[in-house]
Amino acid sequence: MAADAALDLLLAPRCAGCGAAGSWLCLACRDLCEPVRHGRVTAAGTYGGALREAIHRFKYGGERALANELGTLVASCIASDLATGVVLDVIVPAVLHRERARARGYDQAWLLAAVVADRTALPLRIPLRRIRPAAPQVALDRAARADNLRGAYVAEAGALRGARDVRSYVVALDA
Ligand SMILES: [Zn+2]
Repeated sequence: MAADAALDLLLAPRCAGCGAAGSWLCLACRDLCEPVRHGRVTAAGTYGGALREAIHRFKYGGERALANELGTLVASCIASDLATGVVLDVIVPAVLHRERARARGYDQAWLLAAVVADRTALPLRIPLRRIRPAAPQVALDRAARADNLRGAYVAEAGALRGARDVRSYVVALDA
């Protein structure tokens, strides 16, 4: 019984931002995330505070359930874009290399994209396949990140058939 109670406590969701019980990223902390728009790129929030902690736990802490909260955050950002007339056709995750996904136990980009696709009713497509694992991006500057990803993906022919303009309308997710 004591072991069960301890396990319940461990598995009970706690907010990555403020520690409040009940969810992995509470509504109040989610509300602090302001979308950032830069040309045609939109981020659901600035990488810092509760969001940074939540992403870190999602990627490295095994807290895969954070896909729901983070996916909802991205989906609400997309919903407000759709409401202003932005056209989006598909949700595309920047999938992990299969070795890295196996080591982690899940592919966080795929999980997140699946939640976003579900919430926005947009189709999820996987046109990219990772053919080599890249070094972790975390310690690299912008130019080194671009170099690191060069040749890391191949595109599957036909996976985006029906999408109108791939450059404009694909929402890429890399959590
Ligand atoms: Zn919170």
